[in-house]
This record gives sequence, structure tokens and C-alpha cells, in this order.
Amino acid sequence: MVGKRVRTRFAPSPTGYLHVGGLRTALYNYLFARKMGGDFIIRIEDTDQSRKVEGAQQNLLKTLEWAGLVPDESPSKGGDFGPYLQSERLEIYAGYCRQLLEDGNAYYCFATSEELDENRQLQMKQGLQPKYNRKWLPESMGGTMPESETKKMLESGAPYVIRMKVPDYVSVWFEDIIRGPIEFDSATIDDQVLMKSDGFPTYHFASVIDDHLMEFTHIIRGEEWLPSMPKHLLLYEFFGWEPPKFAHLPLLLNPDRSKLSKRQGDVAVEDYINKGYSREAIVNFIALLGWNEGEGCEQEVYSLDELVERFSLERVGKAGSIFTIDKLNWLEKQYIKERPVAKIIETIRPILEEELSSKACLLDRQTITSDAYLTEVVELMRERVGFEHEFVTFSSYFFFEPESWEEEAVKKRWKADTNQLLAEFLPVLETLPDFTADGIEAALKAFVEPKGLKAAELIHPLRILASGVSFGPSLYHMLEVLGREAVLRRIRKGMECISVPA
Ligand code: GLU
Repeated sequence: MVGKRVRTRFAPSPTGYLHVGGLRTALYNYLFARKMGGDFIIRIEDTDQSRKVEGAQQNLLKTLEWAGLVPDESPSKGGDFGPYLQSERLEIYAGYCRQLLEDGNAYYCFATSEELDENRQLQMKQGLQPKYNRKWLPESMGGTMPESETKKMLESGAPYVIRMKVPDYVSVWFEDIIRGPIEFDSATIDDQVLMKSDGFPTYHFASVIDDHLMEFTHIIRGEEWLPSMPKHLLLYEFFGWEPPKFAHLPLLLNPDRSKLSKRQGDVAVEDYINKGYSREAIVNFIALLGWNEGEGCEQEVYSLDELVERFSLERVGKAGSIFTIDKLNWLEKQYIKERPVAKIIETIRPILEEELSSKACLLDRQTITSDAYLTEVVELMRERVGFEHEFVTFSSYFFFEPESWEEEAVKKRWKADTNQLLAEFLPVLETLPDFTADGIEAALKAFVEPKGLKAAELIHPLRILASGVSFGPSLYHMLEVLGREAVLRRIRKGMECISVPA
């Protein structure tokens, strides 16, 4: 490929949401193009009118944009971003189809779907691989149908499709970048429909023509398209075009090694976005589904720029890659740990405002929505949350009064004298000159030591009263962030409500 600028494409059909497998295909095409200093293009394959879903195209494009996979060409008219649309290129396909008919590489077929079905049943009964029986292959092309019959049918206006004529004895060979050399026997190849009766091309036909005309150098797509290769290669041969290079990506698998399916979890990228996963974690996770940097490389957290720098098709494996949600969760945590606090606040402030609009709050609203307060909460909790929204939900006690106290924890931590101890400690907190983590810690230790008690006797009950739960960040820091007033109010309220075991 010396001297040729690398061009790759992502070519989704607008039949629904963007599947995680689709995002991986798009990402690998993007990474490879960027790495090689080439172009990444989006082409919408919307020639199957029956499978077209309203809004799917916009949805796909929105998700790709969200992932940061910005294409290099926006051919749509009107200035807005828009990809290539196959439905706008029907005349081009029709022209190439005429050429195949003229050259004797394609023929009209008037078989009805009932006939095709019958034929398929028969072949299956005979233990044969179902294939079109070539009833309409004209005599001039080695078949049995007289040309006059075809002409008559055409004149009568009967519906037809156009099929490619697969040469009888030819072996089709190509070298896949990921899988190495692969050979197909023409006896196994069907006379593929190229033009459907509605005048639209099939995927196979339109995709080969466009891949050639749009000058793609590398076709990177899912393994499920591997069986289509002989048909595609024959079309390149018919037109005398040099095929691009191909890389077929491994399947995505459920943890039980079955093909990734909705039944075992979400497969739409959107579902993961809605759950709160971030762009960085999803893109990073998807990149690792089939690619790694190689033996001895321990790195797992990669930014998009780093991926561009390190990615190579040679390091994509053949074996199916298992979609492990734990890995995605782990990555999400890594990103939350590193993310600038201002960015996190940007996401959580609207979530908090929303909660505040519908829930009673005894704290000062201005304080708890301030940058200063939210920064403290974020820094204290970032090691503990799994998602950004959990800064509000999982740490809700920083914003709302606990509504209950973890029952099991109360049972375990409350002794006969716990409330008494708390009552004695209250004035210490009330009068503490410096209500900081260090100040509170020193005061608590100074309070328990002369009594011969362990700090834990107070630490656990204080945590439960202040937060409602038995786990969380450092107690002293949590109390400092909450502030004296809230802490005292919560201790008093809890002492009123929690009864001492008999
Ligand atoms: N439209 C096909 C799909 O939906 C594209 C396959 C290809 O990349 O050639 O997956």
C-alpha cells in the first residue's frame, strides 16, 4: 500500500441502537485510521427498507459522537454533519449492475419466494447445503433458461431480482490481517442476489461498490462477515478492481462463552451510558475486547489518544473476547479516582439540584451545592463510589438527613451505655474550638482514654448516627465536612430514636 492514504469506514445499518460490538468495530476502524494518519468515514447502509428503524440513524451517530469517534468526511448537503447514505446512491449501484448483466456476470431471476422455499426444503431433505438452483440462469451463461423466456418475463413487468453468477470452478483466496490466508471453494458459494425486487441493492453489492469508490484501503469488521468474503471478492474480480485489505474481528462472548446476547446483559451502548458509565471507561473497555499491547504489558487504562498511539491490527486476537462487566466496573473506578474534581462536580451538581427539588433538606442549600463543599465530598468519596451519580446517591448523607439507621449495625454497636456515652460526648463536640478531623479525633481519644474505653465504642455509633450506615470514609473527615450543627442534630435525633438494648 505504499503511497496510498489509509482510509477506513464504519458502515452500520440503521436497524436500532449501537451494539457494543458495533462500537468496537467503529473504534478499531477509528484507531487504525488515526494511527496511520488516514481517514475514518461513516457510511450508513440503509438499503434494506424492511429493517430500517425510525430514528436509528440519528441514534447511531449520536452515540458515536459521544464516544469521540468523529469522522473525517461529512458529505451531507446543508452543512450539518451527515455521513454517506447508501439510499442516496441508488443510481450508482444500478449502473454497475447493468455492467455485470452486460458482461455475463449477473442474470435476472424471477423465482417467487414460495419456489425458493420449496427448493430450499428439498435440498435440505437431500442433505445438501441450500443454494439457489439456477433455474433462471440463461442458456448463454451455461444455464437452461432460454433468453426469450427472460425477455418475455421482463416485458410482462413481473418482479425480479438480479443475481451474480458464481463461476463454476474457482477457488477464492485472500489473506486476512488477523486470521492469515483463507480459501473458499466456489462450489459452496450461492448465486447471491445483488439487486432486490424493490430496486435496492443488497448489502453485499452496495458495500463492495462503495468500498471501492470511496477508496477504502482497509475493511475492518466483525467475524460474522467472513462467510461473505467469497461473494465480495468475486465482485472485485468481475469489475477488475483491486480489493482492499481485510481484518475480521473476533466475536464478543458472554462469560459462559456463548455469543454476546441481550439475554445475559445489556448490549446497547446506550444502556451503559444510561447506567452512568463514562465515555473514557467504555471506550477503554471496548478497546480491550480483542486487542492488547502484548506479552508483559500490564497497562490496562488507556486514553483515546494513547490507544491511537499503541493500537495495531496485528495485536488483535482471533479468539472470541469475553465481555466481563467486572472489568468495565473496575475501569470506571480507575477513571473516577483520576478525574479532575471540577469535571465531577459538573456532572453531579445537576443530579443534586434535581434531588433537592423534591426532597426535604435540613442543610444549607447554598453551602452543599457550593464548589467548596462538593469538592470535599468528592475527595472523600472518590475511592468508594462506582459511578459519578453515586456521589449523590451512595453518599446521600452529605446532603440529606439519614432516614433510618442500619438495623444490624445498631444491634451490633449499641451497648447499654452507648447513649449515655454519646450524651456525655455531645458537649465536647459542642464546645470543641476546632471542628476539624484532627480536632475531633483528638477530642474523642481524650474523652475515651480516661474511661478505659476503646475509641471504637464511640466511632461506630457516631458514624451510624451521622450517616445512617456502618461504612464510609474516615469518620473524622466525614464529621468535619458535615459540620458541627448537622452532626449535633443527627446525634440528638438518633439518641431519641434508638432504644438501648435491655
Ligand atoms: N452494514 C453492515 C453491518 O451492519 C456492515 C458490514 C461491513 O462492515 O461490511 O454490520
